[in-house]
Amino acid sequence: MTSPDPLTARLPSPLQEVRDDRFDRRGVRLLLKRDDLIHPELIGNKWRKLVPNIEAAGGRALVTFGGAYSNHLRATAAAGRLLGFPTVGVVRGQELAGRTLNPSLTRCAADGMRLHFVDRATYRRKSEPETLAGILRAAGAGDAYVVPEGGSNTAAVRGCRALGEELRGRADVVAIACGTGGTLAGLAAGLGAGQRALGVPVLKGGFLEAGIRGLQEGAFGGRRGEWSLDERFHFGGYARTTPELEAFAQDFEERHGLLVERLYVAKLLYGLVSLVEEGAIAGGTTVAAVMTA
Ligand SMILES: *Cc1c(COP(=O)(O)O)cnc(C)c1O
Repeated sequence: MTSPDPLTARLPSPLQEVRDDRFDRRGVRLLLKRDDLIHPELIGNKWRKLVPNIEAAGGRALVTFGGAYSNHLRATAAAGRLLGFPTVGVVRGQELAGRTLNPSLTRCAADGMRLHFVDRATYRRKSEPETLAGILRAAGAGDAYVVPEGGSNTAAVRGCRALGEELRGRADVVAIACGTGGTLAGLAAGLGAGQRALGVPVLKGGFLEAGIRGLQEGAFGGRRGEWSLDERFHFGGYARTTPELEAFAQDFEERHGLLVERLYVAKLLYGLVSLVEEGAIAGGTTVAAVMTA
């Protein structure tokens, strides 16, 4: 795949070993797959998911969906600015329309994204064809290329297969935080024999398993690769945290001299340390944690 120029990425992303006594003690090797270093503005899996969609859109306006703090909306807006195509962001929450924009939406608007706010009931029904058509009409985006919330469609899932391929032969277990699960769906399909993917959902609900199966069905025609989810580490749901998680993330940053993104990566790393301490990841295992940001 040829990527448009301003979106040139550092691929394969670096794979770094880190020494952490909580892993050393159990004989588990920890590697960090630095997808956060792929591109300065389209971080990690957002680059992997968006680039195939930008190519499919062929210069048309791109319309997509997200909450007020969506990393996906920000990445889409940045891509639009870099490549000069129009972007429309459909934002959950009509009540946000008259208010001062938060920093995340301010960035989207500064990158030229047109923001269209919809009430939560309509937002929930956005995958029904009539509701979607109504939203697009109201947003003045009738002939735009539509990317779903979180960016996880067939093209995106296929794009994430390369993440798995880059890790072939490098780890036994590849662990990743999941929102929609699109990245895990592609990653698992790209891994080699004997490797498995482990997803840590950051949303509460337990609906992700079926969602990922559907995404693999759509992208590949059936289940691909070995993958499973551990639903215990969402800390109450998306963007929820606790003092314990915050302390864990700060400690990890100090130990290893890197930034730990709080919405996804902190929960992933917390989950991994817990699994190693429980003995659920056996001694002798090499684990690669995907730093999606
Ligand atoms: C969007 C995002 C994810 C989740 O990706 P999905 O494909 O929706 O599961 C994980 N980590 C970070 C940092 C993200 O921004």
